[in-house]
Amino acid sequence: MKLIIERLSKTYPNGTQALKNVSLEISTGMFGLLGPNGAGKSSLMRTIATLQEADSGSIMLDDMNVLKEKKRVREILGYLPQEFGVYPKMTAVEMLDHFALLKGISKKNQRRELVDNILNQTNLYNVRHKKLGKFSGGMKQRFGIAQALLGDPKLIIVDEPTAGLDPAERNRFHNLLSEIGEHIIIILSTHIVEDVSDLCQEMAIIHRGEVLLKGNPLESMHGI
Ligand code: ADP
Ligand code: ADP
Repeated sequence: MKLIIERLSKTYPNGTQALKNVSLEISTGMFGLLGPNGAGKSSLMRTIATLQEADSGSIMLDDMNVLKEKKRVREILGYLPQEFGVYPKMTAVEMLDHFALLKGISKKNQRRELVDNILNQTNLYNVRHKKLGKFSGGMKQRFGIAQALLGDPKLIIVDEPTAGLDPAERNRFHNLLSEIGEHIIIILSTHIVEDVSDLCQEMAIIHRGEVLLKGNPLESMHGI
């Protein structure tokens, strides 16, 4: 699978030029988008996630025109915004079962098997009956991935995932992403160099809306 972004530009109504001719080629695996606050990461992530329009340029995911075929894109996309809300009074199992039902899986046994698999995969099985409001930051992030996985996504976009996580939680989250990222595209947007150097096969550095550097993290960051 390949996501090809060509000469993407975006200026907000107040005149802020958030993306300037951004071109990137992203293959299956983990891709890191590294840049300081205000660099344009969220603007790019939201555009790929079909949540906002670009002024010019194109995004293709294999044969899919991302900027035009929003419905198709949303069917295969998992998007984890920086601050993602959960229903605090529901348990992990209740919430995931509810989403599986919304997806049209009407047989209870089938939902149970799917939800149990995902809970195991995200290491949340032993807290499945805990209320989401009681989850730690790391557990919430993993729950976000669990929720995304229910849709069997081909592309997952994660915005600033490890901000505020302690080192153990961060490690656990990294391991989870690495496992999933073997088969699909995961784009990780972050200002933390280690998130990218630990995890990503390919990366780009973005600054003031422009791509400054792209390539393999170890080679690219040598000397930074
Ligand atoms: P990052 O995610 O790297 O922090 P953003 O994409 O959020 O960067 O922001 C890029 C630039 O665009 C910043 O200068 C930011 O203030 C500006 N910006 C982001 N969203 C909007 C918006 N809705 N309206 C106006 N300016 C915005
Ligand atoms: P992030 O850190 O995820 O990029 P921001 O703090 O930049 O988030 O933006 C939070 C929200 O505020 C977003 O919906 C963004 O579109 C909006 N926003 C960000 N910067 C501006 C701005 N300069 N003017 C108007 N809206 C903005």
